[in-house]
Amino acid sequence: MLFAKLFFFQTIRYFIISGGAFLILNRWGKSRFKKNRIQEIPFSQKQLSTEIKYSLVTLFIFSAFFSVILNPSLGPYIKIYSDSNHYPLWWPLLSIPILIIIHDTYFYWMHRTLHHQIFYNKFHRTHHLSTNPTPFAAFSFHPIEAFLETIWLLPVLMVIPVHKYSLITFAFISFLNNVKGHLGFEFSLGKAKFLNSSTHHSMHHRYFKSNYGLYFLFWDRLCKTEGSTK
Ligand SMILES: [Zn+2]
Ligand SMILES: [Zn+2]
Repeated sequence: MLFAKLFFFQTIRYFIISGGAFLILNRWGKSRFKKNRIQEIPFSQKQLSTEIKYSLVTLFIFSAFFSVILNPSLGPYIKIYSDSNHYPLWWPLLSIPILIIIHDTYFYWMHRTLHHQIFYNKFHRTHHLSTNPTPFAAFSFHPIEAFLETIWLLPVLMVIPVHKYSLITFAFISFLNNVKGHLGFEFSLGKAKFLNSSTHHSMHHRYFKSNYGLYFLFWDRLCKTEGSTK
């Protein structure tokens, strides 16, 4: 059953990558990476349990979504393809940054909307229960937010043809970017000026009012919402 396979794979990947990052940074390499720590606010066992609980709910929803869009009965409407001869050879490569740019734009505006007082307490406060997030918070969303986090792909995949390996690669990049945003440690600030750093997102968790971006800083700069990184 596709849903069970997807949920199993996503859960294993979450515990290996988020769990591995957590153990390396907060346990085994605690003193070595002390200088990279972004916030000094301690996190509790309860915070970790909450982050893991909501992340598993999100992965359940993501798995349900992908098992629906990969269902053969939706085949005529969804433009995921596996035969490389259908489109130019460069298209599978180019489609990945295109998906990232669409996702970045969608996320910025969805995220800003969720910070509106009408929606914040109902749907986005769950993610902000972590003031100093850990890698386990990468998918710690209210179920409605989890749905909003993935539903954008449906209309996109109905319009843009995407090779299955491009979609898998994009999903993996997106996963790693989410974990990076919640590392709680900074390893990149100052190196890539246009990328949303772990510090930017950590400061979003702390101050709420700025740094809404996902991959890039373009929208935060354009809309003057880039905030403190200290
Ligand atoms: Zn976050
Ligand atoms: Zn937020």
